[in-house]
Amino acid sequence: MIKAVRGTRDLLPPETALWNFVEAAVRDVFRAYNFQEIRTPIFEATELFARGVGEETDIVAKEMYTWEDGERATLGLVRAWRQTNPGAIPYTPSTGLVIHRYDPDFVAKLKEATVVIDAKSRPTTAALEQLSSYAQFLREHIPDHLIRPILAFPDRANVPNAVQTEAQRLGVELERLDYEPSKSLTLRPENTAGVVRAYIEHKLWDRGLNKLYYIGPQFRRERPQKGRYRQFYQIGAEVIGPASAGSESPARDAEVLEMLATLLDRLGITDWNLELNSVGTPADRAQFNDALRKALEPVKEKMCDDCQRRAVTNPLRVFDCKVPEDQPIIETLPRITQFLGEESRKHFEAVQDILTKVGVRFSLNDRLVRGLDYYTRTAFEFTHGALGAQNAILGGGRYDGLSEALGGPAAPGIGFAIGEDRLVMSLKETAEGVLRKPDVYVAPMAGMNGEAARLARELRQHDVVVELGDDGFRLKKSFEAATKAGAKYILIVGENEVKADAFSLKNLATGEQVSVPRAELARRIQG
Ligand code: AMP
Repeated sequence: MIKAVRGTRDLLPPETALWNFVEAAVRDVFRAYNFQEIRTPIFEATELFARGVGEETDIVAKEMYTWEDGERATLGLVRAWRQTNPGAIPYTPSTGLVIHRYDPDFVAKLKEATVVIDAKSRPTTAALEQLSSYAQFLREHIPDHLIRPILAFPDRANVPNAVQTEAQRLGVELERLDYEPSKSLTLRPENTAGVVRAYIEHKLWDRGLNKLYYIGPQFRRERPQKGRYRQFYQIGAEVIGPASAGSESPARDAEVLEMLATLLDRLGITDWNLELNSVGTPADRAQFNDALRKALEPVKEKMCDDCQRRAVTNPLRVFDCKVPEDQPIIETLPRITQFLGEESRKHFEAVQDILTKVGVRFSLNDRLVRGLDYYTRTAFEFTHGALGAQNAILGGGRYDGLSEALGGPAAPGIGFAIGEDRLVMSLKETAEGVLRKPDVYVAPMAGMNGEAARLARELRQHDVVVELGDDGFRLKKSFEAATKAGAKYILIVGENEVKADAFSLKNLATGEQVSVPRAELARRIQG
């Protein structure tokens, strides 16, 4: 038996009714706040997430579903290579010679082994490092060969200075070849980067302030557990635009937070807790990072491997650490609040003032840094006690520099993503409770399928929910089917009824049965 892949699941009826209930309610709320829907593709260029979410985040470093799109690109590379280097045979990892099907006999026949790999659209230091480790692998396996690592890239790409220097250091040659590079693609692990990419691509700044929302699946290769899946669903929104359209105003932060409070309350999830922090501007954070690095220097050895790495590369991420032994050390570290500049502090206070005015309760949490690099200033999470270990129901914050990081114009923004799976888990409603059962079961007598279908069609046009039976069923079976479907009434369609243009309608709960003229049926059933 083929089963759904670990970390993914089928959502079946009646549970899907709860999902529809949630989605209908949030669409109503979004409408009231004048948000409009955006749908972006489920996969994007890997680079979007690397640059948008941050290389050093758990999501990008460990959790993405990424693949190389374009075997043909590799063949193109080989062809281009042969044209400029007749007689030489390139190894390319994706043609399988080196990595997938390492063939010592084949390699032994060669005097000089050239490893050439596709640098994708642009040579990067990451590609250099990958190539250099392939070369190392070959040197270990065929020590008597000269290994010549070459990083190929298509002729239109330019080479950043840092890459040239790094290539020299690693002893890698860079070579321009005319071919179509393969592309690294990734299933979206979150949707903000995609929305901001769309903002830039379609020049949405022309529209002033954009208030966009999305509902859809996201993908992360995390360890599956209750409330944590590898395909999960997010409901999110983004407010983004030029500063002149008011995108930077604390009024927008407060409006988004108030909307979320309203949304949760409307869904009957009233025991939420809003945790709020400011992670400052990049300038504030630079100072904070310096202080963190200094504070971590003497203690990092005692911390987990991830934290040791983070302490050097991106110390802020230390606050994401969940290892219990590291927590006492993390408790002693400096906090971002001590490093907020005047502007960040004022902005943060303004957000809190508005929240207090509109009566949205919150608590401050100066450890809250969120798992994505792009956040600036306001950062927040809503938690819900009933969820257990995975208690964050939604998270978000400001990302004023994200558009620029992705090559767009300055476009301050704020957004959030609600975990829809967890939202559904937090509901007090049951699927049975929100499911709309059939109002009526139409039971045709022998030979009456056509008449029954005509009647069902009329009723459905009046928004009656109809389950249509089959004239092959005996009356007893029709009654059983009607009860199983949870129908309120059963309506019998026989020859006499059609002639009289009046039908016997039986209430399945009370047993009461009346004859109702055709024209009055819909009103009677709904009444
Ligand atoms: P993030 O994009 O990491 O800020 O997550 C926002 C929200 O999405 C979280 O608060 C969770 O409710 C939800 N979420 C994140 N990852 C998962 C997952 N693997 N499974 C289910 N929900 C998730």
